[in-house]
Amino acid sequence: MLSNYINGQWVKSLATSSVNIINPATEKTLDQCPLGTREDVEYAIKAATEAFKSWKKVPAIERAQYLFKMKSVLEQNVEELARLVTTENGKTLVEARGSVRRGIQMIDTACGIPTLQMGKYSEDIAEGIDSFAVKKPMGVFAGIVPFNFPSMVPFWFWPFAIASGNTFILKPSERVPLTQNRIFELIQQTGLPKGVLNLVHGGKDVVNVLCTHPEIKGISFVGSTPIAKYVYQTGSASGKRVQALGGAKNFMVVLPDALMDKAIKTSLESIIGCAGERCLAGSVILCVGDQVYTEIQDKISRAASDVIIGDGLDPNTQMGPLISNEARERVKGLIQSAVDEGAKLLVDGRKNVAQTKGYFLRPSVIAGITKSMRVSREEIFGPVVLIAQIKNLDEAIEWINDCPYGNTTTLFTTSGAAARKFSYEVDPSMIGINIGVPAPMAFFSFGGSKDSFFGDIKAHGEASIDFFTDTKVTIQRWSADSSIW
Ligand code: NAD
Repeated sequence: MLSNYINGQWVKSLATSSVNIINPATEKTLDQCPLGTREDVEYAIKAATEAFKSWKKVPAIERAQYLFKMKSVLEQNVEELARLVTTENGKTLVEARGSVRRGIQMIDTACGIPTLQMGKYSEDIAEGIDSFAVKKPMGVFAGIVPFNFPSMVPFWFWPFAIASGNTFILKPSERVPLTQNRIFELIQQTGLPKGVLNLVHGGKDVVNVLCTHPEIKGISFVGSTPIAKYVYQTGSASGKRVQALGGAKNFMVVLPDALMDKAIKTSLESIIGCAGERCLAGSVILCVGDQVYTEIQDKISRAASDVIIGDGLDPNTQMGPLISNEARERVKGLIQSAVDEGAKLLVDGRKNVAQTKGYFLRPSVIAGITKSMRVSREEIFGPVVLIAQIKNLDEAIEWINDCPYGNTTTLFTTSGAAARKFSYEVDPSMIGINIGVPAPMAFFSFGGSKDSFFGDIKAHGEASIDFFTDTKVTIQRWSADSSIW
């Protein structure tokens, strides 16, 4: 049974129930995750509140030193962390390594906190009066994260939160808590003052306490749209700042002038990478014109049929399993719904799965997709390529903007004018031009629009500092000449 990390120590949860942590490639039970209690969370909040009193006064340049140490210790353990990610989540080792490195890049960026958190100063806003603004840390923040990136997603938040002088409580996904446990063991080696960073395992009961407790100043959430909305509503009704990143439905548009082989390869990688369990995964390929539609069906079907599936720890594996049998059954049901609604199943990934253990599903390819089908509107979160034929770029933009989600979208083209029009007119907040997974780097803001994001201030980089600080303005008059008062 895993322990919580609170106030610089590993402590037993008071939980009376737990969930099994399962390796999705082998179905073996790896450990148990406690479903934490109100008392567990309150203990962490007390420790984080106490730690905040002194941590907020530590100069930014000194806070950054702990982040440098964390970077160093994490870099030395990338391989071990990547193997843990693969073991508990299923993605391939190559994907897992990439996700660990992406997480560490957040620390790289947060190390710039002395400049990121700098305030502003204006002289003579009126005669003899000056004004300055500083970005103050606010207190205890919490992070609630999903199963699909056990290592990376928590780094979107806590490095920026603690760098700017706050303290933090992380609740990992109860399905994949092992990687974070190991990361916290590594962080413990850096001598970070106790209570600054805390880990509490659990499920919805822990989330509910975090969302309503008066000492929590803000919540960073990543997960499915219904829970994102719930966390946003509950947290903000309790007076907290909330940034809640939700689910997605991502469209990829291919114009006839695109570099076709590159577009096909990149689209397939986007859709089936991490077995489709990415919020930035492509889902529906909108093909402009007959020729593009025919070529994509043909080439993507062949490539999808050749994908080698297996345990992500095997270097030959190109795609790992889904997270659970329940997830696999859901995806199978969505494939069936498309068939029942009249789409053309070109490759049926439900067939020819050689593995007898593990939650494997092969990539599927379905053509003849229309806008009203269930698969055009619902997030699939599985390796399913959907192909639709449309007339032109305007129809693509209309289709994308009609979708309730707004996480990301991609255009494949060699036309600058088409690219400009596309990125100007579409609703999603993260746009790819000839890029399959437009995941912003740590120094750009990350987060979608519409039903993919609830809140005002996005994640990463400068946006993060705005989220984790309160701007305080002082207006001062220090003139020795009383005649100008
Ligand atoms: P999820 O919503 O089931 O769980 C996310 C977190 O919420 C977990 O920590 C979980 O313990 C908690 N939770 C679950 N049910 C709850 C409830 N009823 N009340 C309170 N808390 C609850 O999501 P998931 O299945 O772990 O992750 C997949 C989803 O996350 C997908 O929809 C995916 O698109 C989304 N996601 C979005 C982004 C993004 O950047 N927008 C990134 C990664 C994943």
